[in-house]
Amino acid sequence: MKIAVFPGSFDPITIGHVDMVKRALPLFDEIVVAVGVNSTKKNLFSLEQRLEWLRQVFAEYPSVKVDYFEKLTAHYCLRIGARYLLRGLRNGSDFDYEKTISQLNHIVGGGIETVFLIAQPEFSHISSTIVREIIVGGGDAAPFIPKEIQIIA
Ligand code: ADP
Repeated sequence: MKIAVFPGSFDPITIGHVDMVKRALPLFDEIVVAVGVNSTKKNLFSLEQRLEWLRQVFAEYPSVKVDYFEKLTAHYCLRIGARYLLRGLRNGSDFDYEKTISQLNHIVGGGIETVFLIAQPEFSHISSTIVREIIVGGGDAAPFIPKEIQIIA
């Protein structure tokens, strides 16, 4: 069984994240969208809220599971029997960052492979950071978030 973990903050989930999962569906038997709980990172939305949105968005996808984990991503993968990580690349800075993390996860996770999908042009400008800025600034984030969820600023 090919299980991939798609780890992230998902603060909040965007249509860029959803596109990644949809494109990766044919590659894996199961994709676990997993919120990494990082106490040093300041989030806009609570873990419960982020998990609820993820569950809503992927409710119709039987091979997509939603979960969360603390501490190392690679250890979480080992615990649930996932041999693959899924990550998205939007630009060169994503690449520089992801390259090192992927090499580390390969060692710490005993051979875990990270599969990268290049963001489609229509989604490559979208990030949770931008969406948070729009929400905090009182703007309408609807064009960037899945239609299943509603964020009231
Ligand atoms: P993190 O805090 O780990 O970067 P994010 O929730 O911001 O978590 O992102 C999770 C994953 O989704 C990352 O691999 C990121 O590159 C990818 N991603 C985010 N936005 C997009 C997008 N618009 N298109 C493709 N991949 C994306």
